[in-house]
Order: sequence, then structure tokens, then C-alpha cells
Amino acid sequence: MALNAPAIVILGNGSLATARKIQQVYPGSLIHGLAERVDGADRVYREFGATLRELYQQDTPIIALCAAGIVIRTLAPLLLEKGAEPPVLVVAEDGSAVVPLLGGLGGVNVLAREIAAHLDVVAAITTSGELRFGTCLLNPPSGYALGDLELGKRFVSDLLAGETVRIEGAAPWLAQAQLPEDPQARLTVHVGHAEREPAANELMIYPRNVLVAVSGDVANLPGSIRAALHQAKIAVQSVACLLAADTELASPGLREAALELGVPLRFAAGAESVRALARRATEQPAAFYGDDEISIAVAEQPLDPLTIGRPRGRLAVIGLGPGAAELMVPAVKAELARANDVLGYETYVRMAGPFRADQVMHCTDNREEMQRARHAFELAAQGRSVVVVSSGDPGVFAMAAAVLEALHESTDANWHNVDLEILPGVSASLATAAQAGAPLGHDFCVMSLSDNLKPWSIIEKRLDLAAEADLALAFYNPISRSRPWQLGRALEIVAQHRLPHTPVVLGRDIGRPGQTMRVTTLGQLTPDQVDMRTMVLIGSSTTCVFPRADGGEWVYTPRWYGNKP
Ligand code: SAH
Repeated sequence: MALNAPAIVILGNGSLATARKIQQVYPGSLIHGLAERVDGADRVYREFGATLRELYQQDTPIIALCAAGIVIRTLAPLLLEKGAEPPVLVVAEDGSAVVPLLGGLGGVNVLAREIAAHLDVVAAITTSGELRFGTCLLNPPSGYALGDLELGKRFVSDLLAGETVRIEGAAPWLAQAQLPEDPQARLTVHVGHAEREPAANELMIYPRNVLVAVSGDVANLPGSIRAALHQAKIAVQSVACLLAADTELASPGLREAALELGVPLRFAAGAESVRALARRATEQPAAFYGDDEISIAVAEQPLDPLTIGRPRGRLAVIGLGPGAAELMVPAVKAELARANDVLGYETYVRMAGPFRADQVMHCTDNREEMQRARHAFELAAQGRSVVVVSSGDPGVFAMAAAVLEALHESTDANWHNVDLEILPGVSASLATAAQAGAPLGHDFCVMSLSDNLKPWSIIEKRLDLAAEADLALAFYNPISRSRPWQLGRALEIVAQHRLPHTPVVLGRDIGRPGQTMRVTTLGQLTPDQVDMRTMVLIGSSTTCVFPRADGGEWVYTPRWYGNKP
């Protein structure tokens, strides 16, 4: 199982040097620093507890540079829940101690040893089995799967109590461990792909050396695969991956079967039969089972799915939200973490980062949307995981529509086969409205005042009708150097239907450093108060304003209209 890159969490500048040292061990890792306490962290957080718990729940390994007690108390409420248990370690601020706390099965001791070696100290390993045998029997490396965890735990405790063990079958990693081997032992570790009930005192370890080539057309695919494996007496735990012809990239049946069986799904150039597909993909000597619909190849050594065929490419069009990391939805964070390629306007790509050394950034000018969309499909069609970034929501005057337009225009089956998903974000109008109160609390109309892609006459007509309909208005792209007069004209049209005291909210760089929010009125609003980084919200006839205790003002549009019900 591939680990997410660890998060290194620090509370003050005093830990930064040690954090940077640890970061060298894990090139993809990011340093999360407490706002206003840490200068120069990769990510800024405000609440230690919420941040740590979110990382934990997302299965991100955590390296916290603070007292162990703080981390224990913070994560304690989550420990009773079943779910993710990523490695969690604490490291002394000065790098003098490395203490693995949680995630024994997730490899926390491996991380602790790596970090300790780099800091030139000894890791505080307390796991008896690991100390004694130099490996965690319960946490086999990739290429192997443990049959039964509870049985495994009993095994390790029996071994610690002095029992010996017999190893059947080959697994180089077990051979390297210092297990107390004895041919006469009562306990047996059996390494093999055969499907059978374990004997008494037998721990099964399955090599992942089986490839299943299938077609998505097979009815009840997961059930049929299980049946075929059963017939060939092969354990489902030994399946390394499913393989299908690349003509079936978009097959929902294949996708569901891989999910259901919990194995990766790979694709290879079409072949005359699934048997031929399996034969070509398995480069080592192998035995074959199955039939014309499901072909099972059993190799001598574990198979690495990453070297077999290619995955279905993925293209996600994501919204970053207005800017602040807290306002980015978790699905978007996860998508950025899995991306091979990130495309977008340079400012937004930078906002989405920092990225790992293995992730490729493709920055382009803001106007090259169609070209960027096509480039994204070209990359995804090769099997890469591609992200196109927009600020706010990608469906609001941003990349999602451009990407769909590019796909609609294309007849390339490889583009249509890409796993395309649009992930939403908090749009600037909503982020601005939230800061002001609820100016969009009733019906409202969202418009871009840019006439780059639509005639100005349409904009005037829509403004006139929306203002007449008494909708609250949200203006994106209100003004720019190349569009200097349009906002003034737009305000004239609105003023024909609204009174001068109508509340107006101006949000600039909301959720970004130096953000400002102003509440004014339609009568006082002039275009020079607005620039291209501003969101303009204009109230309806019912929008009201009242003072806040802190000196500012709340703006809201009531949910009802006409007489209060
Ligand atoms: N997809 C984006 C909008 C892109 S159009 C979204 O959903 O938010 C660009 C316009 O959005 C800018 O001209 C500005 O009017 C507005 N905008 C974007 N980010 C903003 C922010 N952080 N604060 C205020 N306005 C913003």
C-alpha cells in the first residue's frame, strides 16, 4: 500500500529547522505551520486540533513536532472509531527524540527509524515483535498480503513467548527477518496463493502474483471472477490486478469489479482474447486458468501492477475556492495529492501548490483556456492523472465549461474514455456574501460583466431584466484595463430600477492575503472603487444593513418577499 506523503506539523518557528531536515527524507511532504506563529511554512493552519484530526481522517501520516501528550489528547476521540489509522509520530522540537505513537500496521516504526537515522538519534521503538525479529510480521511489504490479522497477532505473541516457527513457501522478506525458525515447530507461516482454509496454527501470507484478464461485458463480474478463482483454487487475496483491453476503458462494470475486489484496474492494447491479453502482460513464466471470458495468470513472483499496461487516465477540473486553504473542499485536496500533472493559469497553479518533485506543473496564460483543455485531455488519454485548476468554482466563469466544450468537439475515443470529474469549490460570490452576512439570502442573479465572450448588448439586456425582476446581483469580472467603461454603464442600468440607498458589498481578494470587504450603497458606488479582483454584490429592494458589535455592518436579504409571513 502506497502511503500518502507525510504532513509535518509545527507550532512555532523553533521547530522549523528540524521540520526542514525531516522534509528532506520525504520529498513530497509539506510543513504545516500555525498561522501567525510560523513564517515560511508550506501550508498555514489556524486550529491545531481540527487540522490534526482532518489529516488523520484522510489517512495522512503525521509527524508532529511537539509534546506527545498534545497529540495523544487531540487524536484520542478518533481512536475508538474504526477507520483510517495512519502512522503518527512525535519528534522533539530540537530533533533529539523520535517517538512512534500510532499506526503500527501502517509502518510507523519504519518512518521512525528513517527519521531517527537522518537526525542521528535512536527511535523509541517499543513494539516487541519488531525489536526481536527486525520486521513486523503483520505488515508485509507490497507484493504480499496478510491472511488474518487477529491470527497474526496471536502468532507474534506466541513467538515472543518463546515458540518457534516453520516457514513454508518463499518470501525473501521473511527470510531476512530474524524469526526463530525450526523445522519441527508447531507454528507455520505459509506463503502461497492457494485457496484453502488455514490449518491449525497456520498463518497464511498471500503473494500477489495473480493477474486476472477480463472483459467488462461479463455478467456479475465480481461474482464471476470469484467463481473462476475458486474453481482454479486460487485465493482472491493473491490477485495483484485486473487487466482489460483498452477498448473498455470506460466500462462501469470493470470499475465496479476492481473496487469490489479492492485491486487496481489496468488496461493494455486490445488482443484477440483475454488469454492473449493475460499472456502478453505477464512477462514472467506463468500458469494459466480460466476460460474465454476470464483468464487467470499465476506468475512465479509477485506482480507489480504499476508495470502492467496502464491505468485509465483521469481528468479532474477542480475549484480552489477563493484562496484560503480552509475553504478548499477535501475532495479537491485529495485530487491535488494524486495528480501527475497540474494545468492552469499560473497564479492559480501556484495557489494550489506546493507540489512534489514528481508532479508536473503546466502554467499558461489566462486566455488560453481551450488550448489548456485540449492539452489536459492529451495528457489524461495517456493514462495520467491530470488536474485543471480554477479559482472559486470551476463551473462559474472558469475551466469546467471549456473542458466540456473541448470534449464535445472531439471525436477522439481516447479523450471520451478519460475518467472526467468536476469538483466544486466555493465561488467568490458565496465567499464574499458569507463575510458580509447573507446578501444573497433570497433569489439572486450571477453575471460576468466581461464582454470578451458575449456581446455587450446581451449584458445590458440581462442587467435590465434582472434588475427589474428585483434579483440581488453578483458581478464577476466587473472591470479591467481593457474594459474601462462597462461597469459605469451597468450601474446606470441597475440604478433605473433600484434606489440609491440599496446596499452594495465589495469584496476584494476574499480569502487571500490582504483581503478587504466594504459595505456601501448603490448611490455611492463608483467604478474607481472596483478592480478585476473585486466581487460586486448589489442588494435587492429588501436587502438590509444593521450594525455589528465590532463596528462593522451586517448585510442580509430576508428569505421572505412582500409581507413577512
Ligand atoms: N471561478 C471563479 C470566478 C472566475 S471569474 C469563482 O467561482 O470564484 C474572475 C472574477 O471572480 C474576478 O474578476 C472577481 O470578480 C471574482 N473573484 C475571484 N476570486 C475572487 C476573490 N478571492 N475575491 C473577490 N473576487 C474574486
